[in-house]
Amino acid sequence: ERLIAPQPLAGDERFERALRPKWLRDYTGQRKAREQLAIFIEAARQRNDALDHVLLFGPPGLGKTTLAHIIAEELGVGFHQTSGPVLERAGDLAAILTTLQPRDVLFIDEIHRLAPVVEEILYPAMEDYQIDIVIGEGPAARSIKLDVAPFTLVGATTRAGMLTNPLRDRFGIVARLEFYSAEELQQIVLRSARLLQVTIDDAGALEIARRARGTPRIANRLLRRVRDFAQVKANGTITAAIAHEALTLLDVDPLGLDVMDRKLLTAIIERFDGGPVGLENVAAAIGEAPDTIEDVIEPYLIQQGYLQRTPRGRVATAAVYRHFGLTPPSGRGE
Ligand code: ADP
Repeated sequence: ERLIAPQPLAGDERFERALRPKWLRDYTGQRKAREQLAIFIEAARQRNDALDHVLLFGPPGLGKTTLAHIIAEELGVGFHQTSGPVLERAGDLAAILTTLQPRDVLFIDEIHRLAPVVEEILYPAMEDYQIDIVIGEGPAARSIKLDVAPFTLVGATTRAGMLTNPLRDRFGIVARLEFYSAEELQQIVLRSARLLQVTIDDAGALEIARRARGTPRIANRLLRRVRDFAQVKANGTITAAIAHEALTLLDVDPLGLDVMDRKLLTAIIERFDGGPVGLENVAAAIGEAPDTIEDVIEPYLIQQGYLQRTPRGRVATAAVYRHFGLTPPSGRGE
């Protein structure tokens, strides 16, 4: 398990629940999504209508679940949560839909993983607040229509491109969540520290924020680890020096890279002259599965511009050479 994984790790859940902002005004960053939602929520509240269906997309750990909770809280309605892979049969979703109260929020995480038969039920529910279900089998089977209370579906996905078109078209509000800046993550760390009653200064919070890979979940997790270190080594107070020492011990470097990231990048630099090198070759060189490299290690490195994926293979950028204290070969792109 990687300390800098954007997915929840064992032990995260209890803390995340305690640290989750409850209101839009406590939700740091994501200005565009926040302003857009504030207006639509206010309008729906004034008309006493259900809010339009909302699709939230972006990488794990950026606050999609948090935002779904906030929407229900701001609307003053009930919140129901499920996820794409959990809903196996049409009846699983029908059972939830028929218990909704007017204007409630139904949150479906990983909505790109809904089974086609379940998605079919969702269309008329989203559009007309009705569901068609088939009861019985064979010649005795018949279809009945059931009314569903006007509700708001909040769907979350890490990949908007994996939604079917008919599903995507039924969302009136689509918000894309972006990676957070170090300053925004610093604010989140300071707020979390307050809630956890941890003493930290601004520089200490920034030191953690810089290594959190643009992701609040990682920032909160690093804060908890640094807190333990500070408690044992420094009377509980987190300064920049303590954060640096703790995170170095935990093998998270100043760019937020861990051992796996560095192993990949140094192999490309030292054994393949910085690339281009094919995925299979570099995978064999570091003893990792190509899939792991592609799905788990590379996305952040590419997004940050440390690694480029070219038609001829992977290339380490000049920025990475400098990060490792090396001189980039001439002509090497940023
Ligand atoms: P996702 O559903 O996108 O994977 P979550 O909503 O579960 O992410 O967020 C992970 C954790 O990060 C939450 O527990 C919350 O405490 C924190 N978090 C996310 N976004 C924000 C934000 N904008 N402000 C403060 N904390 C946040």
